Amino acid sequence: MRYCKKCLNVDTRPNIKFSEDGICPPCQAKDIYIEYDWEDRKSTLENIKNFAFENTSNGFNCIVGVSGGKDSTRQAFHIRDKFKLKPLLVSMNYPPEQISMAGVDNLSNLISNGFDCVNISCGPKTWKKAMKYAFIEYGNWAKATEHALAASVARMAIAYKIPLIWWGESPALSLGELGVSSNTPYDGSKLKYCNTLSGGDANWLLDAGIKANQLLQYKYPTDQEMKMAKLRIIYMDYFMKDFSHFINGNFAALRGLSLRKPNPNLDPDYYGISMLDEDFINTNMYMRYLKFGFGRATDIVNIEIRAGRMTRDQGIRIVNRFDGSYDPKLVESFCNYIEISLNEFWSIADKFVNKKLFRKITNGKYERIFEVGKGI
Ligand SMILES: [Zn+2]
Repeated sequence: MRYCKKCLNVDTRPNIKFSEDGICPPCQAKDIYIEYDWEDRKSTLENIKNFAFENTSNGFNCIVGVSGGKDSTRQAFHIRDKFKLKPLLVSMNYPPEQISMAGVDNLSNLISNGFDCVNISCGPKTWKKAMKYAFIEYGNWAKATEHALAASVARMAIAYKIPLIWWGESPALSLGELGVSSNTPYDGSKLKYCNTLSGGDANWLLDAGIKANQLLQYKYPTDQEMKMAKLRIIYMDYFMKDFSHFINGNFAALRGLSLRKPNPNLDPDYYGISMLDEDFINTNMYMRYLKFGFGRATDIVNIEIRAGRMTRDQGIRIVNRFDGSYDPKLVESFCNYIEISLNEFWSIADKFVNKKLFRKITNGKYERIFEVGKGI
């Protein structure tokens, strides 16, 4: 395991590749794009907006996938008030047993701010079965739900004949997920090739005992379907100088976003502003930490280091203290939800923990054997 020399990104992250001198893709991108000619970006943006106007359907110029969280709130406002486009928001809702009150409030907040929103829900039994299978087979329950979240937006764009979708951050530029890389840094047409969506084919869920006719909502459109619909997917952070975790959080909070009360001893998201729409994500982020050696504190400090608001050493202190924290109560509710015992949960976790990075002490307790900032 190697750390980026500039931030705390790690080369254990799926689909990442450091430069020969040990710099992660987002830090390289920062160096390449920081001096980029913004006038060029403006004219690219104008071209995209023209595409939106030319392909307007029933008064809507574009689609935005939203959860109601900080990023989607910022996106919706920016598209409407700055880009002067009329967006149709599309939200894939978690089932009642999973959605958080903040998630419900935040979606209502967007609607009360005047946006049109289509809400989509999947059948709860299939949803739960898919989550359980993804957890057991991949140690990542969100693999199933991410399929539905991403696919629903693309499917709605095709069905409603609104062929422009805006997403917030490019996973390649912000995280180093190079599976989604395309010809241009703002093109999101390869989004389905990220590690979690692995091409968008949901047939792996057939092995969970889910029937083919129950999979529609999990299937990302094929390349052919996307081409026929002239679908364009654009990462808007490329056109905004200040699209970031911190600024989006402030922006959205000032417009009514409900936040999570931060408690970094139970959740390394020490701002309490990300992934607000459900709480089981806490267990999934802990699993990711055990698999790859980085948690949500690492994600946040990387952004702060690149923005110049934090030094790498300050980041190391925060990551040392908080990465790897999780809430045992949420593990318990997750187990109740997918109907497994706590013992089953931890024996599944044991299967996925990276033994080169962690030593097991007892159920739920693993000792880090790498050094934050240095690796192993
Ligand atoms: Zn870096």
